Amino acid sequence: MAAKMKLGLYFRNDDVRVEECPVLEIGPAEVLVRVVTCGVCGSDTMQWYREPEIRRKGGINTGHEIAGDIVQVGHSVHNFQVGDRVVVAHHFPCGQCALCKEGNETACEYMREKHIEPGGFAEYIMVRETGIQKGILRLPDSMSYAEGSLIEPLGCVIRSVRKASPIRSHSVLVIGSGLAGLLHIKLARALGASKIYAVDTNASRLEAASRSGADEVILATCTEGELPKVDRVFVCAASPKAAECAMECVNRGGHLMFFAADGPDHKLALTLTKFWLMQPVIGFTYGASPDDMREAMELIRSGTVPVDDLITHTFALEQIAEAFDLAANPRGNSLKVLIAPNGGNAQARGSGNGSVPGKAPVVTMEKRTAANGWIRSPQDSLRRILGQAIQKLMGQTSIVS
Ligand SMILES: [Zn+2]
Ligand SMILES: [Zn+2]
Repeated sequence: MAAKMKLGLYFRNDDVRVEECPVLEIGPAEVLVRVVTCGVCGSDTMQWYREPEIRRKGGINTGHEIAGDIVQVGHSVHNFQVGDRVVVAHHFPCGQCALCKEGNETACEYMREKHIEPGGFAEYIMVRETGIQKGILRLPDSMSYAEGSLIEPLGCVIRSVRKASPIRSHSVLVIGSGLAGLLHIKLARALGASKIYAVDTNASRLEAASRSGADEVILATCTEGELPKVDRVFVCAASPKAAECAMECVNRGGHLMFFAADGPDHKLALTLTKFWLMQPVIGFTYGASPDDMREAMELIRSGTVPVDDLITHTFALEQIAEAFDLAANPRGNSLKVLIAPNGGNAQARGSGNGSVPGKAPVVTMEKRTAANGWIRSPQDSLRRILGQAIQKLMGQTSIVS
């Protein structure tokens, strides 16, 4: 293996550099992964969000939608082997604290810890000892690396949609038809929403929204009265205007979910009496837990939420500045932008016979086990495993229940 590798370093959206550093040497309990694909996330280009860390560290490498191959395994790591195709999460919750136990895992303080070095925009990443147990998922042979890079984004969307459940037979409005909005539309469709509206200011993204399952698309500037009133509103556009509009769109007793944040200084006014009478649930969602990611993997693997059509661009690491520019300033048909740091085939699948594309599962994400929408207790996991076994016998697979 080469002693040196290339990595991308982010300073600003218009200043992303390619530099060289030594390939990290792993310790006995660590793993080295050759990155095949890493998605550029909306949060990677949120300059206001990244600036404090940049000031502290100089350039940063925020790549976290990582799929690749394990190329070195420390001698005390027994659950992974060289050659394993994997998806790597850079962070995850502790699983032990009160927030984790009540199903609010991504609010866990431990989510701030990073378990990989230097980040997915590099030829190789090291997974630290603390990341081995919870931070690595095996990628099914039937899935491509590119699909693997969509697992984390879909995991975040699964959490968002679950918090606003049930979706079945409810009307849905998705504000913003970038990648996150399109994944919300696809998932709401799979969950049986009665009618899905998509709003964006970009006509080509609305075409993608229609293809993803929206019943009605609205080219909007978010002026008064433009948007429908619905049972479930998802804000997937990082704009103060979108947030304000969303407040007007939720039906009595509905859910309003903020998936996107629009900068540190914006305050949102709330008409207290109106909302007191209407009683919508207003929620916020951030990140994905390991369980969310496993569910995302299953939804992609089974074809329930296809994501291939959302990946429009794959860049070499040397072109990372161009990739960030396109992600931050979408043009043409651009949706999801990937980096392929080793120039490998993003579409390659595994050669084993372990997994075959399955029949579309029955999606039953709507069960709520607690007031906050969703708790996964050990009993739930057991129920889920039993449910899967029974439904497999009956020729169906239920992946979320
Ligand atoms: Zn992301
Ligand atoms: Zn925790």
